[in-house]
Amino acid sequence: MNVDHIPDRELAVRPDSYSGPNLSPRGLHLQPRPLADGVFALMATTPPKDNNGVIIGLRAALVVDAGITPDVSARIQGLVVELTDRPLRYLVNTTYHGDHTFGNAAFPVETTVVSSRANREAMTDLEYEKRLRSANMYGDEAMLDAVTDWRRPDVVFDGRAEIDLGGRVVELWHFGPGNGPGDTVVHVPEARIAWTGNLLCHAGIAHMLLQGGPRPYLRTLRAMRQALPELATIVPGHGPMGDAGAAIDALSVYLERLDQEVAAAVQKGRSLEETMRACTDPWAQSLDPALVTALSAYHLPPGAAEVGMRTLCQNLHRLNVLATYRLYGDSPT
Ligand SMILES: [Zn+2]
Repeated sequence: MNVDHIPDRELAVRPDSYSGPNLSPRGLHLQPRPLADGVFALMATTPPKDNNGVIIGLRAALVVDAGITPDVSARIQGLVVELTDRPLRYLVNTTYHGDHTFGNAAFPVETTVVSSRANREAMTDLEYEKRLRSANMYGDEAMLDAVTDWRRPDVVFDGRAEIDLGGRVVELWHFGPGNGPGDTVVHVPEARIAWTGNLLCHAGIAHMLLQGGPRPYLRTLRAMRQALPELATIVPGHGPMGDAGAAIDALSVYLERLDQEVAAAVQKGRSLEETMRACTDPWAQSLDPALVTALSAYHLPPGAAEVGMRTLCQNLHRLNVLATYRLYGDSPT
C-alpha cells in the first residue's frame, strides 16, 4: 500500500454529482478587519469565497494571495492604498490554485511574488488550471477569460523564509504537502496570527485532500504545531477566522478517521460506493457549534451560511474518500 504517493496533478475526476465551493468573484466584497497594528485580514463577506490579507511594516507592505481575476487583484490593491501609504513590495501565494494566483499578473512588477518552490513548480499549465477552476465559477466561467497570463512566483523558498517589512518580520513556512504540494503559511509572530490558505480552515470545515493523502497531511499539521506553538488565530483562505489549535485538532481527528476507515474498506475489498457508505460523514448530522457561531457573524439570510457550509463539507468529504480510496486501492482511474 503506497500511502505516501502524492499525485502531481489535482484529482480531476470528481465523485458523482459533486459540487465544489463557489469562488466566483460576482458579489465578492472584501472587508478589512484589523487584527493588530498594521495587520489586516481582508475577509470575503460571502463564505467560502477567497479571503486575503495585508501586513504593513515601516518600509513596505505585503499582500496575502492575489484574487481569482485581474479585477479582484485590482480591488485588493485599492484596499492596500486605503490602508497604508507604504509601497506594496510583496505578494505571497499560499497555494498555486488559480483563486489564489490568477491575479498575480495584475500586480506591478515592483511587487515581488513569493511562494514555496513546490507551489511555483505546480504553476505550469494555465489552461488546465482554468478548466479546473471553471467548476468553481457557477455560471461566471467567462470571467476567467480575463486571465491570460499565469505569473509565477519571482522568489521561492524551501521550509522557512523571512520577509523584513521594516520593524516587522513576516515568516513564511512550508511544512509539507496538505491540500496541495506547496501550502504556504504566512505567520506574523508578534501578533500570533497566520494566513493558512487552503491548508487549515476553521475547526469543523472539511479540507480537500487534493494532492496529499491523510498521512502526509497529518505529518504536515504536526510539523506546523511544533514550529508555531504560540500561534493563536488563523485567517484561512476560505471561511471564517478561527482558533489555530482547535483547527489543527479537528482536522487531525478527521484525517485519522478517514485514513483508518478507507484503509479498512480497501483491505476488505470494498467498492468505492461501499467505501463511501462505510466512512463516517461528520457533516451528516450537524455543524461544529463553534463554526455555527463563526458563520453567524456573516450578514447572510438566517441559516444560509450553515446550509451552504454543510452541503459544501459533505461534497468535500466525498471527494476526500474518493481521493484516499484511489491512493490506497490503486484503483484504475
Ligand atoms: Zn483556495
